[in-house]
Amino acid sequence: APPITVRSLSEAIGMKVGELSKRLVKETNKLYAVNSPVEFEVAELIAIEKGITLKLKERETAESKVLDKYKKRAEEMDPALAVTRPPIVTIMGHVDHGKTTLLDKIRQEYGIKSDVVSTEAGGITQVIRAWQVEKDGNHVTFLDTPGHEAFTKMRARGAKVTDIVVIVVAATDGVMPQTEEAISHAKAADVDIIVAINKIDMPNANVDKTRRQLYQLELLPDNMGGDVPFVETSATTGQGISELLEQVLLVAELADPPLKADPQHPGSGTCLEAYQDSDEGVKATLIVQQGTLHKGDILLCGSTFGRVRAMYNDMGVQIDEAGPSTPVKVTGLDEVPDADDPFYVVEDLSTAREIAEVRKSSRQRSALSSFTPISLDTFNAAK
Ligand code: GDP
Ligand code: MG
Repeated sequence: APPITVRSLSEAIGMKVGELSKRLVKETNKLYAVNSPVEFEVAELIAIEKGITLKLKERETAESKVLDKYKKRAEEMDPALAVTRPPIVTIMGHVDHGKTTLLDKIRQEYGIKSDVVSTEAGGITQVIRAWQVEKDGNHVTFLDTPGHEAFTKMRARGAKVTDIVVIVVAATDGVMPQTEEAISHAKAADVDIIVAINKIDMPNANVDKTRRQLYQLELLPDNMGGDVPFVETSATTGQGISELLEQVLLVAELADPPLKADPQHPGSGTCLEAYQDSDEGVKATLIVQQGTLHKGDILLCGSTFGRVRAMYNDMGVQIDEAGPSTPVKVTGLDEVPDADDPFYVVEDLSTAREIAEVRKSSRQRSALSSFTPISLDTFNAAK
């Protein structure tokens, strides 16, 4: 396929070249000429903000044929075997409005307790990007707030991981610029939204004003003709947290399409983060979205592959299998995959190796052939 250029992207998404160039500088810190190629991921991201989904014209390669099989399989579900899966929730909002404190409190009060001691080397002290809580026997998976840029990038790459976004707004500040951004990212992602009006314990909290500001952004509760639940919370005292989780479970129950997956399927999902561990090799945090992942399964994850050697849950405890909506950390991949890379369980190592290798070489080729725009720093220095 011909490369996407600034000009062709501008035409495709109806954004003036000048405006697009500015947006590109902001996104990549690089300068582009009209005919410069634009990285697909960057183009996708900008297009998505305009409500347009870019698709590469699929090349019929051996790779895509094999992958199609796994992709299709991941989408197929036997309704008779499908079971309700826990919702996957992301918290977004303006800086300092209480996202981290809220997540910590939720985990403190509803985190799944385990008698089994973590056996993961250095595991529990590592930053964990995803974990589950339990309320009245129901599980909810939280993803540590990636920031809305990361959220949209992830989605631009086709990884629809989040089912529900909780927008946190401090009643002391009300709606702020990043609140608005978070709302528009969540709306564009077409996920269910819940509003948590936070810091209601503070003397200067103004819940009514905050509500009105949110109504103006077309987030409306059901008594105003909308479908957005509003919950008043204090992340420090814990007030409203139980109600927030109840609302999450309620929204999950009513989700359309329903949150279901077939645990009998081979596992598939998305890589959330990965790194090279000095002792255990590559460690990848994956979220299983369909099927069940087992220890010993053969994984293809982006352009990396391998057999799952060890698998840990969100408390660093070794487990042998992980069902839908479960975050796990696995070892055994040959290289560090990218965050947002989809993963599939494949039948045999040779298939996995073959596809991984095709992908590696095509990534290298595109990296070599791609035009390298001058970085802004270099440009300024040259002036
Ligand atoms: P984030 O940037 O959205 O992750 O915000 P943080 O969770 O780091 O919170 C920013 C500050 O607000 C911290 O000092 C928190 O202790 C405080 N904070 C967060 N939630 C509440 C709340 O509900 N009530 C009060 N009084 N303080 C809060
Ligand atoms: Mg934070």
